[in-house]
Amino acid sequence: MIDYAGLMTKAAMLRKKLGEDSDSPIDVFALAQRIEGLSLVYYPLGENLSGMCIKGQGENNVVAINSTMTQGRQRFTLAHEFYHLYFDENMVAVCEKNLYSGKDVEKSADLFASYFLMPEAALLIMAKTLIKNSQKQQLTLEDLIHIEQYFGVSHQAIVYRLRFTPYLEQSKADLFFNVFVRSRAEFLGYSSDLYKALPIEKQYMTYGHYIKQAEQLFSKGLISTGKYEQLLLDAFRTDLVYGEEEDGDVID
Ligand SMILES: [Zn+2]
Repeated sequence: MIDYAGLMTKAAMLRKKLGEDSDSPIDVFALAQRIEGLSLVYYPLGENLSGMCIKGQGENNVVAINSTMTQGRQRFTLAHEFYHLYFDENMVAVCEKNLYSGKDVEKSADLFASYFLMPEAALLIMAKTLIKNSQKQQLTLEDLIHIEQYFGVSHQAIVYRLRFTPYLEQSKADLFFNVFVRSRAEFLGYSSDLYKALPIEKQYMTYGHYIKQAEQLFSKGLISTGKYEQLLLDAFRTDLVYGEEEDGDVID
């Protein structure tokens, strides 16, 4: 049994707890890096999985995101993993790629992610305004692209969410669900980053607690330089070991 209202409340509560307002788009990647005790791993998890959440002792948790998926989808997966992290009693969650399928806990995590990234009131106000402006009865494909770009979610996530509202009838939703919108979005002047995966060399990355912990062990003299570098290399952080050009002006 899925508790829609309960999930909406949980999403609103977590936004508040993490210092976000109740209706703006969220930079969920940046937000995850600020969560105490969370290590965030981007890794190609294969064809069938979208992500994983592993809870450790105390505040020592790991979330892994399948980095081969589009960036819009990765954002959704990360919000989905927040559900496991904060509201699921299981210590380990392995999450399948297909949306809104599998056990109730998986469907709940998907709905939670949808509400977390697209708060109900903000989404419906936007849908209503777009319909009013276009003087049509229903949302158009262009309207949907506008909304998914605003909230930073995949096209499928937005169609799925709006198809049960008066703004997108079922037959249109079914039609729009399978449309490839990348080039349409580009012609409308949007960046197509949302619909693309990162290049292969950027699909391996670790952020957060693990990196901070390794640095603390090293700075306290508890591990050698070699061990510290090995820990960073194990976490795919060659950039920290071998350096990378930094942005910004050089000051003499
Ligand atoms: Zn899951």
